Amino acid sequence: MAHLEDAVIVNTLVRQALVAAKEVMGENGLNAVLRTSGLSRFIGQMPPDDLNPGVSAAEYAMLGKAIEDFYGRGARGMLRRIGKASFQYAVREQAALMGIAGAALKLLPQKQRIHFVLNNMASALKKTNPQVDAWVEDRDSVVAFIESTCAVCYNRKSETPICYLYVGSVGEAVRWATGVDHEIRETHCLAKGDEYCRFEVGSPLG
Ligand SMILES: [Zn+2]
Repeated sequence: MAHLEDAVIVNTLVRQALVAAKEVMGENGLNAVLRTSGLSRFIGQMPPDDLNPGVSAAEYAMLGKAIEDFYGRGARGMLRRIGKASFQYAVREQAALMGIAGAALKLLPQKQRIHFVLNNMASALKKTNPQVDAWVEDRDSVVAFIESTCAVCYNRKSETPICYLYVGSVGEAVRWATGVDHEIRETHCLAKGDEYCRFEVGSPLG
């Protein structure tokens, strides 16, 4: 994990996460977790929308941990909702581009739509930060999104996968591309000693 020592999250992604967290938790909820995670500098002051370093990966992971502590048993659902809102924010910010992509997607079969949106997510992440390594896997007809530099669980230890926020974003991306909710399962997690965090797209729900 030495390569992640100095890992940073760029402003635009921190902004996305904080706007999403504010939508889901309300301003008071967000301010409370900013305080307990050592990120008070963002109270009433969202980071700018640029690619300069915003927070360290350690700080970013602490924010997730603070949300977990704040909500206790309800935290998983809350983190998934924040992840979902993050993807929606990204779509809003790039409305023109996403509109064109969305129209083109309607011509493709479901599975190719999933590939398309997840590949785009991986390249968008890599484009914002050269430290990031993320890719899409398709093995025995199962599609999964993988990141070996996940900041959600940076430096954390757990016996079970903990990147609920990421599960929410991947799920919302797949829903956006296909129009249907799919089951998303985190099968591998850096926090439990795996080489990467892996989010498997399961069957459509409902
Ligand atoms: Zn992770």
